[in-house]
Amino acid sequence: MDDQDEDLGAFDPNIPEEGPSAPPPGWLDDVHGYQVPKGEGDNPLYPPPPDYNPQPELNKNTLVPIVRVPTVSEDVARDALLKFVESKWRYSSKPARNLTFKELQPVTVYRYRLETYTETRTSAWQFESYNGQVVDGPQFGMSPPPWDIPVPPPARYTDKVEKVRVPHSSFVKPCHKCNGCGRTRCGNCHGRGQKRCFGCNGTGFRRRPGNHKSSGKTRCSACSGRGRKRCSSCHGQGYNTCSVCHGSQRLLHFIQLTVTWKNDITEFIPDRQPDFPDKKFEKVTGDPFFVDESMLVYPIQGFPDQEICDVSTRMINEHLNRFSSTSRILQQRQTIEMVPLTHAYYTYNGKDYSFFVYGVENRVFAAKYPTACTIL
Ligand SMILES: [Zn+2]
Ligand SMILES: [Zn+2]
Ligand SMILES: [Zn+2]
Repeated sequence: MDDQDEDLGAFDPNIPEEGPSAPPPGWLDDVHGYQVPKGEGDNPLYPPPPDYNPQPELNKNTLVPIVRVPTVSEDVARDALLKFVESKWRYSSKPARNLTFKELQPVTVYRYRLETYTETRTSAWQFESYNGQVVDGPQFGMSPPPWDIPVPPPARYTDKVEKVRVPHSSFVKPCHKCNGCGRTRCGNCHGRGQKRCFGCNGTGFRRRPGNHKSSGKTRCSACSGRGRKRCSSCHGQGYNTCSVCHGSQRLLHFIQLTVTWKNDITEFIPDRQPDFPDKKFEKVTGDPFFVDESMLVYPIQGFPDQEICDVSTRMINEHLNRFSSTSRILQQRQTIEMVPLTHAYYTYNGKDYSFFVYGVENRVFAAKYPTACTIL
């Protein structure tokens, strides 16, 4: 520190420098039954209680009724194609209106969907400014374990996150950022309220611009010749209101429990039509002719499409392995949909073409379409 800095005045030794923004390790008490993360990499996730051990019953399987493959008529196929053509500016509707159908071939497409609705619980320390609010601390009893805290769930299969305060986990401590002072020393001026003027380097004078040697000095306009300027960060006070406790000096700490409900969906469609891009099915609906719902569903058996039976067994196991160790499975639902798909073959101007009509929405996919301006 040089003489010029001493000119800036002294700082108030009673106002502390800024402390850490987060409570330092060891600052917070342990709360029975809670492994709240103390450092990075700590896992705040609570696995389901030890008595939770979901197991599907042995030898119980689900039977599915057999449905008929839906077919579309020529009129429906033509209307769908006309709509499709209208959405493409370079296609003419003439071929769609005048084509001759050769065959409408329905394709059996099943979509299997497994949904698993889970609840997960994690916790973390939180704090807020303490301004005399009620403190629900350990003097009111022991904090209930994470899975014993009643938190009403949303409607089934709805994703939601709910944050609740763990009962009896609260306590009040002096603010760690300002050491309970409510203010922190301004880091920009080191608590002095003013800074050396950069325009004149603290001298109060500047060289007159433009002229040479004879010019002499002129009073610095940036600081009006004072050589120092008021600190803009603290408005000359030398301190700032603490950004953590907002001046209240004390903080109320508590454990916050985060409850997450999530519906995980896995779908499968066997690839039976190499000419049709399976991705297209994602945008359309089918007819859900089989819906099976239970806390845990059982693999499908005896359905004519063996691939659906196999995928049901595989996905149910996969979901069970994925979720039962980290979450509570609240409900499962498996659905088989019949997704309409018709391969429409036609001729136009003596040439063969085809397109697909798919989904309940009767969408069209055509890899090739005749050009309108054919010269005859
Ligand atoms: Zn300052
Ligand atoms: Zn100046
Ligand atoms: Zn503070």
